[in-house]
Amino acid sequence: MKTEFTSEQLADPATATSAGAIRACVHCGFCTATCPTYVLNGDERDSPRGRIYLMKAMLETGAAPTPDVVRHIDRCLTCLGCVTTCPSGVDYLHLVEHARAHIETTYQRPLRERLLRWTIAKVLPWRRRFALALRLGRLAAPLTDVLQRSAFTRPLATMLELAQENAPRPAATTDAPCAAQRRGRVIVQQGCAEPVLRPEFRAAAVRLLNRTGYDVRFAPGEGCCGALVHHMGREAEGLGFIRRNVDVWSREIDAGGIDAILVTASGCGATIKDYGFLLRNDPAYAARAARISALAKDISELLDASSLPPRVNTPPIRVAYHAACSLQHGQKIVTQPKHLLEAAGFSVVTPTEAHMCCGSAGAYSILQPEIADRLGARKTERLEALSPDVIATGNIGCAVHIGARSHVPVVHVVELLDWATGGPAPAALKIGKETGTHAADA
Ligand code: SF4
Ligand code: SF4
Repeated sequence: MKTEFTSEQLADPATATSAGAIRACVHCGFCTATCPTYVLNGDERDSPRGRIYLMKAMLETGAAPTPDVVRHIDRCLTCLGCVTTCPSGVDYLHLVEHARAHIETTYQRPLRERLLRWTIAKVLPWRRRFALALRLGRLAAPLTDVLQRSAFTRPLATMLELAQENAPRPAATTDAPCAAQRRGRVIVQQGCAEPVLRPEFRAAAVRLLNRTGYDVRFAPGEGCCGALVHHMGREAEGLGFIRRNVDVWSREIDAGGIDAILVTASGCGATIKDYGFLLRNDPAYAARAARISALAKDISELLDASSLPPRVNTPPIRVAYHAACSLQHGQKIVTQPKHLLEAAGFSVVTPTEAHMCCGSAGAYSILQPEIADRLGARKTERLEALSPDVIATGNIGCAVHIGARSHVPVVHVVELLDWATGGPAPAALKIGKETGTHAADA
């Protein structure tokens, strides 16, 4: 696609990156078939190609966009399904992030949206604030039905639903030495949402890593990975989180003996692997951020079938594997989690439309509840059609979003691997679902 940026505009590194992405697009439209919002809405402006046209026009003029342009860019899930499909290697991620930062600085959103976005940015990435908000949200549960009736208040209803379905619980943060022949030492990323919503994910990861031969270190002072606010276009805030983590983890690495920064939430993993790019123009951080990105690993990358501890117990259950977009499209980790589950003895099945986003996508399920609901229902229907005993995924957002819609318990892949190699049954299976299979009894 031909661009018309001026040389002054191209002197800005973000604009130069966006111009390269736009020029790489050959308008073929292959990406439209795998774009969830285009599949749902059938509107070219809700497709990757359509959005690239909108972003090109907006960034070339440098002016504030119209509400219509903002609406179509807001509807993008940043699922990166289009990046996997695109034969021309269009760097859609950095283009849409640049466009969102441009919107954030040039466009005045309606007051309600500004308040909602501010609340999300000031609460969700902070563990204590998020836990407190969940507790308060549980008290306000009776208001959910009333708020649900209007499109205007529906995002608030979604937040209350999240609170009702997820009681906050404390997560362990104590370093844990390995209990097997030592392979190495890893930092386990603590994150923001996962330890509040599903602390059992991290507990299972730590047990499994210890049993596999890894010492686990929790780095004091670490915070949110920055993805949540960065994807909302709040660039300075996002980079603030990122710099803080680079400082904290660099101290640990410099002290010696860190083999990897281990991530159990694939949404965070995709962003941490991009720290090097995001801070490439900051001389004080570029090299250290690149080193952090190189050390970041999803837990399914660190482990392989040969390194798994011996099987102690593999319950005869059928596992439907849901591939999170941030894992399959963002990090190109497609088959490893499934292979690990099979190596642990589970029967694993995958749904049709496995490439499609479930609609969670960070804060998207709150900001765009209607599309998120439709995608969540579509994904859940396809997973449940496999008649699984349990659904396994590698990302907290997907686990919560699908878990709220499915009768089948949803767990993290690592909980099943831990269970099969000597750990306890996943908490979701012990609790069970009212109308679902009590798989832990299988
Ligand atoms: S990131 Fe996902 S929702 Fe956005 S344009 Fe690409 S495929 Fe569509
Ligand atoms: S598949 Fe790639 S090159 Fe083709 S229209 Fe989509 S973004 Fe452009």
